[in-house]
Amino acid sequence: MSKPIVYITRCLPEDVVEPYRKHFQIDMWEYEDRPVDRNTLREKAAQADGLLTVLTEQVDDELLEQCKNLKIVANMAVGFDNIDVDAASKRNISVTNTPDVLTETTADLTFALMMATARRLVEASSYVKEGKWQNWSPLLLAGTDIHHKKIGIVGMGRIGEAVARRASGFSMDILYHNRSRKKEAEDELGATYRSLEALLEEADYVVCLTPHTPETEKMFDAEAFARMKKDAIFINASRGMTVDEDALIQALKTGEIAAAGLDVFAEEPIDADHPLLQMDNVVCLPHIGSATKETRYKMMELALENIKLVLSGSEPKTPVE
Ligand code: NAP
Repeated sequence: MSKPIVYITRCLPEDVVEPYRKHFQIDMWEYEDRPVDRNTLREKAAQADGLLTVLTEQVDDELLEQCKNLKIVANMAVGFDNIDVDAASKRNISVTNTPDVLTETTADLTFALMMATARRLVEASSYVKEGKWQNWSPLLLAGTDIHHKKIGIVGMGRIGEAVARRASGFSMDILYHNRSRKKEAEDELGATYRSLEALLEEADYVVCLTPHTPETEKMFDAEAFARMKKDAIFINASRGMTVDEDALIQALKTGEIAAAGLDVFAEEPIDADHPLLQMDNVVCLPHIGSATKETRYKMMELALENIKLVLSGSEPKTPVE
């Protein structure tokens, strides 16, 4: 019997893929410097029994319609806003993601981004490297404290809780907002529930960690920024689409908020001349929340394991619900 065909939309290291070659016939996008183009994706997906995707691939109704053999789309990310899950379900195609394995790594990056923004680390590093450091002076590159401040986590899920654990090590007051209250976070982390409005008004650091859904799209809009304190710092490590970027730019320009740290953008990669990249009070990262070698390997392995399970007739480890 011939092996099932699996198409991998990114060039993954051979040591991760190799153990799976005995289970499937693996075909993989070969260029490291660019994502698969839509036509190639269409053509390959149409033949495949399993698809391993990353967040830049739009797996929509139109694509799935051509996939007569497809049984699983394994996304190498915890977010799955690039996949039309309903369109997959109605064709009995499983969709899986990679939760948990990236939680602590993404929380590290979120906290690092918050610290980098508050303490102006990127500006300070450039200042030294560009030979501008001539003197010590009392307020040179003075930032804002993190310890003993109030962090407001919007989206107190796996990553949100991991950020809260870090925040408690910095003696921060922890506020959070979800659609539903989380007793464990309140009991174990001393986190306090707030309505979104109250959190925005009280927090020194507003940290977005919700998924991107129709409900969270542009939830950080002009009204949300207007509610924040003038010295508030906004951190986004979830998805760029949760933010109205024009409103954010305006809020930063007019001093409605003090600064922003962004790992994600509405359009990625962001244009080099985008206004957010021209602002000293914005730290920008290229969507590297889960980007450590250890974690990326775990994500690749989990995605491949989910494909193996589904193609052998078992339940996947981490189905999208
Ligand atoms: P999770 O455990 O599902 O947590 C998501 C949290 O958001 C839940 O507590 C949920 O609580 C809350 N939420 C959902 N909809 C909401 C709404 N409308 N208003 C307020 N809260 C809402 O997910 P996770 O593993 O922590 O990951 C969170 C997100 O981080 C992912 O979806 C992904 O987009 C992003 N992420 C980014 C990176 C990166 O590289 N920057 C890496 C990993 C993940 P309720 O259901 O009670 O509302």
